[in-house]
Amino acid sequence: MKHNWKLGFVAGIMLLLPLALATTTFTTVNAASKTTTSKTAKKAKAKPKAKKHYLIVMGHGAGDPGARGNGTTEATFLRKHMLPQLRKYAKEVKGSTITFYNPKKNLVSDTLYHHKGSYKLNKKTTVIMFHLDAPAGHGGHVIIHKKHPTKRDRRLAKVIKKYVGLNKAYNGYSYRTNLRNCNVLRRRGIDYSLVESGFITNKNDVKHLKKNMAKIAKADIEAITNENIK
Ligand SMILES: [Zn+2]
Repeated sequence: MKHNWKLGFVAGIMLLLPLALATTTFTTVNAASKTTTSKTAKKAKAKPKAKKHYLIVMGHGAGDPGARGNGTTEATFLRKHMLPQLRKYAKEVKGSTITFYNPKKNLVSDTLYHHKGSYKLNKKTTVIMFHLDAPAGHGGHVIIHKKHPTKRDRRLAKVIKKYVGLNKAYNGYSYRTNLRNCNVLRRRGIDYSLVESGFITNKNDVKHLKKNMAKIAKADIEAITNENIK
């Protein structure tokens, strides 16, 4: 009887042993994962997320005048009227970093002929290009990176609509894959929007652009960064 009881006890222990081991293992894994989670949380707190970088490129330049109209060229108009205002409001932004491509240089030729330009860009940078349209028409549109406009593209189109008007031919957006200035970025997987602000050949478009340039620049910077500037 005694002997039998002992056997039963040992057998019982042996049956319970795997269960006990399993419980121990589970607790250890759980503790380990808890430690990892709290470590990650601490790291995220200590290192704030890097600011989103936008690079603004004023179209053409460096010997390429772009389109002509109303006694000026695309390159000159963008640098003389638009660039100073964009720079002014870019300084006000807090949540993102905005830099400007050297206005004396041309991103396209720097990329295609000198292996610089977009080769030097961080792939996380978003590029915003400003241009003026030609030869004839009215209004602007946004040339987009993907088949459908992003929220940023929609905000940029709203700015055009408000101050100059949209080009009826595109109704705000145009998805193009055959433009050199876009493809130097597209081939490197860099996100972009190209803003055609209006027609340089259209007297009314140029008049509206000049008259509203400060407001347009402010609204464009807000549209790019999705941040309100006071
Ligand atoms: Zn252009």
